[in-house]
Amino acid sequence: MVSRVIPVEPFDLVIFGGTGDLARRKILPALFRRFSDGQMPEEARIIGAARTEQDAAAWAKWVEKALKEFLPKAELDKALIAAFLERLDYLAIDAMGDGGWKELKGKMRDGVTQAFYFSVGPSLFGALAERLHSFEIASSDARIVVEKPFGRDLASAKALNATLAEHFDETQIYRIDHYLGKETVQNLMAIRFGNVLFEPLWNAQYVDHVQITVAEEVGVGGRGAYYDKSGAMRDMVQNHLMQLLCLTAMEPPNKFEPNAVRDEKLKVIRALDPVAPADIVRGQYKGKHSYLDDVEDPASRTESYIAMKLHIANWRWNGTPFYLRTGKCMKARGSEIVVHFKDTPHSIFEADAGSRANVLSIRLQPDEGIDLRVTIKEPGPGGMRLVDVPLDMSFADALGSDVGHVPDAYERLIMDVIRGNQTLFMRGDEVEAAWAWTDPIIEGWIERAEKPVQYETGSSGPEEALMLLHRDGRRWRDIA
Ligand code: NAD
Repeated sequence: MVSRVIPVEPFDLVIFGGTGDLARRKILPALFRRFSDGQMPEEARIIGAARTEQDAAAWAKWVEKALKEFLPKAELDKALIAAFLERLDYLAIDAMGDGGWKELKGKMRDGVTQAFYFSVGPSLFGALAERLHSFEIASSDARIVVEKPFGRDLASAKALNATLAEHFDETQIYRIDHYLGKETVQNLMAIRFGNVLFEPLWNAQYVDHVQITVAEEVGVGGRGAYYDKSGAMRDMVQNHLMQLLCLTAMEPPNKFEPNAVRDEKLKVIRALDPVAPADIVRGQYKGKHSYLDDVEDPASRTESYIAMKLHIANWRWNGTPFYLRTGKCMKARGSEIVVHFKDTPHSIFEADAGSRANVLSIRLQPDEGIDLRVTIKEPGPGGMRLVDVPLDMSFADALGSDVGHVPDAYERLIMDVIRGNQTLFMRGDEVEAAWAWTDPIIEGWIERAEKPVQYETGSSGPEEALMLLHRDGRRWRDIA
């Protein structure tokens, strides 16, 4: 099987924050990979724009270093790197001032797709949008890519949406959530809507419960000051986990088309019941590495872990809980969506014969993949003993070696921006609905002066989170 690479139209991509951490670790390596695969046409150009005063050659050197640091050696073909660096240009610009903007206008070409990536702090998003407009830089179908965080509550998200809307149409705004660009997340849609096998079972009648886990091994690191004002709810649940929940629970859209998909996701968020305090566990890591040592406030009540039980109040999901959890300093790094199907309605086997429940897990990281557990007879003469075994769905084996590397989410998403496809980006009303659901939960914690419980660094999270499932007769899947 040969993978198809369809070159995109010629483009000018301006990366505001082109000297930042995200540009270095994700955006530029992703662009290089798309270039190496032949997806960038001859005329494509990438313009770095940031506060640092330097020329294009100095930025290109910095980019080369970043590629060498963040890409595997085998991908670093000298001639390809040199050709890629040819596409780069740089401009010193101040988002808050007027310096550099006329020069940027002079650099933009007519007749090519324009994209402006806002890879800067959120306080600059509005200023950038405004100057792109007032200096008449952006063409009428230019795209802007907005990084997270998109607001810190409903009011700020609404204000940001309103500012962007003053200068850009919704069809031009690409709010990025890199979880949506992951191959397996897209495969979740392929599995659900491309097979007749799963969709008939994808409801409360057959699904016992769903677990969505995003576990990180690292702590807040150098981001302590930022993170302490945010916490796991704002940093992970409101955006990434909510998006995964939506894709898992949404109704089939009538087409794989941006607004059809986003309409269905929005309906899921709107159908979420308010969450009772007893259904939420907030935690803070402690031990050899403690959260309170990583932040400035020694009495901080910000959560580095959260587990919650959610109900989606609609016909499909009535009675099927969705358990979400995410945390830092956990025993391993791993993100997955796990769909636990119900037991067979009646067992013809002995009560102690073993398992009869199917589990479908969609793993996002570390190794993206899908695993379906089915019950079979244990081999051998020991009578009818049942065991769960994985049905092998390894993409690499099934598709052969031509499948190549699993593309990074940013590769897919940046090319979608150039192609003008918003399916995997969040619409303004979706983001607002997610905040409208999140705000009362956070306000409740503040009103009740709630303190997070503690959990050991390197563990699977607080005891209370285990109890959240135990009391329902269920257990979390082990974080590998
Ligand atoms: P960073 O601090 O490393 O880089 C910030 C960039 O913005 C620099 O290039 C700097 O020159 C530029 N900048 C700052 N003030 C400016 C101004 N007034 N005018 C023009 N340029 C200015 O930040 P980062 O980690 O690269 O993050 C960028 C954005 O991406 C943020 O919104 C962040 O929340 C988001 N994000 C980052 C990561 C990550 O892994 N770093 C992950 C997800 C989202």
